[in-house]
Amino acid sequence: MPMMVSQRIGAIAFFGVSDMAPHRILILGGTTEARELAERLAQTTYDVTVSLAGRTLEPRPLPVPVRTGGFGGNEGLARYLTENRIDLLVDATHPFATQISHNAVHAASAAAVPVFALCRPPWNRTPDDRWTAAATIDAAVAALGRNPRRVFLSIGRQEAYRFSTAPQHAYLVRSVDPVDPPLSVPDCRYLLSTGPFDVEAERRLLADNAIDAIVTKNSGGTATYAKIEAARALGIEVIMIERQPPQGLVTVADAEAALAIIDHCLGPV
Ligand code: NAP
Repeated sequence: MPMMVSQRIGAIAFFGVSDMAPHRILILGGTTEARELAERLAQTTYDVTVSLAGRTLEPRPLPVPVRTGGFGGNEGLARYLTENRIDLLVDATHPFATQISHNAVHAASAAAVPVFALCRPPWNRTPDDRWTAAATIDAAVAALGRNPRRVFLSIGRQEAYRFSTAPQHAYLVRSVDPVDPPLSVPDCRYLLSTGPFDVEAERRLLADNAIDAIVTKNSGGTATYAKIEAARALGIEVIMIERQPPQGLVTVADAEAALAIIDHCLGPV
C-alpha cells in the first residue's frame, strides 16, 4: 500500500506515493490526446496501460499495453486501480464521455489514487460564425426547427438516432464507424470517414449536398475543425452542442502539460 501524502493542486487533492511505488499509470483513452500522451510515456520507464471502451471497431495500435472494455462502474474501476497497483490515473477520454469521467473521479477517490484530466479545449466562436448553442442533443434537435432542412450530422455514431424525432429533415450523417442504431427517417444518407479533414474538401461536401445546418459537439481540437471553417465560409448555421460544466478535476490541455503533472506526482519522467 503506497504511503499517502495529501497535496492540494488547484481544486483536487493529490495523494503522493512512496519511493517504493512501481509508478504505474492508467490512461483512460479513446482520444488523440490519450494517444499522444501514451506515445510520450512509452519512451520513459513508467509502466503505462491505456484503457479503451471498445467502441471503435479497429482502433489504431498503441505503443503501450491496452486493455479493452468497461470496468463495471466506479466500483469496478476502483477495484482495478487497487488490484493493479495503479499509482496515477489520467482521464484522457473525450470531453463528451461524461460517465467514465465521473467514474474516474469517484474511483480515484475510493482507491486513493491521484487523478487528473487531459482534455482538449473547446472551440471558440469567431464573429463570422453562425452558431446556435445547444445544451443537449434534444435541444439540438429542437434548434433545427419545424421546417425541413438539409442537415449535416456529425455527433458520433451512438446518439445520431435521436434525430429520428425530427423526420422532416434530410440528413447526411458522418461517422468513423457505422451509425448504430440507424436513424428512423425517410431521407438519410451515411458517410463513413475518419479525420483529419481538409477545409476545401469540407466546403465541397457541404455545398454539393446543399447543407443548410450542421449539428456537432464542441469537441475541440484540429482534426474535425475544418467543417467549422467551411461552415463559416459558406454562412451555414452550426448547432453546437456544448460541453457539460467541468466537474472539478484538474485539467490540462496537452501531453506536455500532462507530463509536467506526472513529473510532479511521481517524480521525473
Ligand atoms: P461514457 O458514456 O462516458 O461511458 C460509458 C461507459 O463506457 C463507462 O461507464 C465505462 O463502462 C465505459 N468506458 C468509457 N470509456 C472507457 C474507457 N476509456 N475505458 C474503459 N471503459 C470505458 O463514454 P462514451 O461517450 O460512450 O465514450 C466511450 C469512449 O469513446 C471513451 O473512451 C471516449 O474517450 C471515446 N470517445 C467518445 C466520444 C463521444 O462523443 N462521447 C467521441 C470520441 C471518442 P463501465 O462503467 O463498465 O466502466
